[in-house]
Amino acid sequence: MNDSAPVLICQQVSKSYRQGALAVDVLRSVNFQINARERVAIVGASGSGKSTLLNILGGLDLPDSGNVSVAGERLSHLSADERGRLRNRSLGFVYQFHHLLPEFTALENVAMPLLIGKQPMAIAKQRALELLTRVGLVKRVDHKPSELSGGERQRVAIARALVTNPACVLMDEPTGNLDSHAADAIQALMLELNQSIGTSFVVVTHDQRLAARMDRTLTLVDGALVSAEAINA
Ligand code: ADP
Ligand code: MG
Repeated sequence: MNDSAPVLICQQVSKSYRQGALAVDVLRSVNFQINARERVAIVGASGSGKSTLLNILGGLDLPDSGNVSVAGERLSHLSADERGRLRNRSLGFVYQFHHLLPEFTALENVAMPLLIGKQPMAIAKQRALELLTRVGLVKRVDHKPSELSGGERQRVAIARALVTNPACVLMDEPTGNLDSHAADAIQALMLELNQSIGTSFVVVTHDQRLAARMDRTLTLVDGALVSAEAINA
């Protein structure tokens, strides 16, 4: 992929859910793009559509109308299998609850996206070890998630999200479940990895300090993006 091409493009994306006879408009004509290396926060009240938007950007959910392109590929032009491969190759995901597999070690969890991408075991484990070293967990590689602190689990989840060298990492409240000390460490790590690896980050967060450390903030109000000027006016 061209280094200056946008990693994500979201054009006129709308989504509603049916609740009984009622259609609830969750996203209304959302437009934006995320450039290579860019760090963007998505903020908004609970229920404003942040997680729905992130799931659509990641190809986990489909919009009713509009288009999403990831690394130059339009998601609606791909089959479910092709979307899965693009997701595996070009995106990483981090959630509020780490979603690590409890019966696997930190090393195995981080190696998993590479194994799913059909990389040989030895290469996957070597690369997972590199990432766990980068997030400061080289001494915890053989620990299972239950043997790690909340902050450590989130660092494992970040290592897992980055192990494939994705163009962009999508994060949904990555520090929402952490105390402020652990949240600070995760923030510093994200910024360091963004600078050194050049991955773009799209971070849904309620954490004002985290949002302030991004390049810009997108604000959702009732499923529509509003400009910062409109909010401050
Ligand atoms: P946020 O992450 O900003 O809190 P969500 O994207 O999770 O918001 O949800 C936005 C709105 O869409 C909420 O009103 C929620 O109840 C509704 N919603 C989300 N997912 C579904 C679903 N699968 N079915 C019906 N309604 C949903
Ligand atoms: Mg949410």
